[in-house]
Amino acid sequence: MAAVALGVPSVRGVPRRAATPGGRPRPATPLLVDRYGRVARDLRVSITTACSLRCTYCMPAEGLPLVPRDELMTPEEIGRLVGIGVRDLGIRDIRFTGGEPLMRRDLEEIIGAARTAADDAMAALRPGTTAAAPAADAPASAERVRIAMTSNALGLDKRVDALVAAGLDRVNVSLDTVDRAAFATLTRRDRLDDVLTGIRAALAAGLAPVKINAVLLPETLTGAADLLAWAVEHGCNLRFIEEMPLDADGRWTRDDVVSAADLLGVLESRFRLTPAGREDPSAPAEEWLVDDGPATVGIIASVTRSFCGACDRTRLTAEGTVRSCLFGNEETDLKALLRNGATDDEVGDTWRAAMWAKPRAHGSDAVELAADAFARTERSMGAIGG
Ligand code: SAM
Repeated sequence: MAAVALGVPSVRGVPRRAATPGGRPRPATPLLVDRYGRVARDLRVSITTACSLRCTYCMPAEGLPLVPRDELMTPEEIGRLVGIGVRDLGIRDIRFTGGEPLMRRDLEEIIGAARTAADDAMAALRPGTTAAAPAADAPASAERVRIAMTSNALGLDKRVDALVAAGLDRVNVSLDTVDRAAFATLTRRDRLDDVLTGIRAALAAGLAPVKINAVLLPETLTGAADLLAWAVEHGCNLRFIEEMPLDADGRWTRDDVVSAADLLGVLESRFRLTPAGREDPSAPAEEWLVDDGPATVGIIASVTRSFCGACDRTRLTAEGTVRSCLFGNEETDLKALLRNGATDDEVGDTWRAAMWAKPRAHGSDAVELAADAFARTERSMGAIGG
């Protein structure tokens, strides 16, 4: 990991103009802008590298090295960073990830701290409003920051009610197949039934729509229609995502990436699919109506049709460093600032400077980079937070 010292600017709300990678001055905006005009409003927070599964495209069989407990961000630190992000930097969506978020025993506390910080920050932004007493005319529901989690759903049934009570709005569940043997081979754990129980519990707790994310793999392609049938039957939105070179074992090759055309061919043998475009023009998933709807299926062509130009993400690792790009190796340590007594302004300005340096695409500023060329990252998906 390359930790970058980007300095500590000083004026509240107006970042200094000195952070100028590429020689261009950063405009005086409080938002998380980068040199390519993108604005990051979607915060991914990894809270652990531990996981209950060992998906072959993500983790090594023995798991990832665990981050020592005192190096993990605490609920208080996460709440403080969420507050700064929402109030000072324009963050409007928060998603907890890992590793597996449910591996943290204090996940309810983390969600609760993030919810309180996000709600207080939004209340503070409304004119005539205090965190304790929101203005009567404030557009409260429209302004609620969405807190979501990406999870494998193992054990979710036992905790979902407490998580919703703490402020969780949505869950995306990762599930690549509903074939028990294929699931056990792919995840190196025979836990399919527990995952399905977790999804049902999320639906029963009112977390609908539950999105299911499936990595598109040669070995699960034949089961793709069964997975879609299960998702439709249970009212889940299924999205397939192309496998990216973020596996810990470094086995990914471009030749193994299953094309959208191959997937559509398999699905169309069972379902009538009608192109439905994208939720919005910057959404990564291209959608199809299944048997005339309302069910849909999406494909996220993260390899063959990269969407870096519309990327609005900023990421925090479990150790509290900012990553501006999934494929970049640069990280800026915000947790160290928090622990060394930095003010919110100092933390916010360091975060802005880190995002200003966000690479153009796939970890690189090269303009001639082919759409499916990637810098190989030092960390795998499970270590960064997917
Ligand atoms: N444990 C949680 C889960 O299972 O969703 C959160 C962490 S996991 C790293 C987040 C997402 O990254 C999952 O949907 C997983 O399938 C995806 N992922 C992991 N490795 C990937 C890869 N090489 N290519 C594409 N997606 C990947």
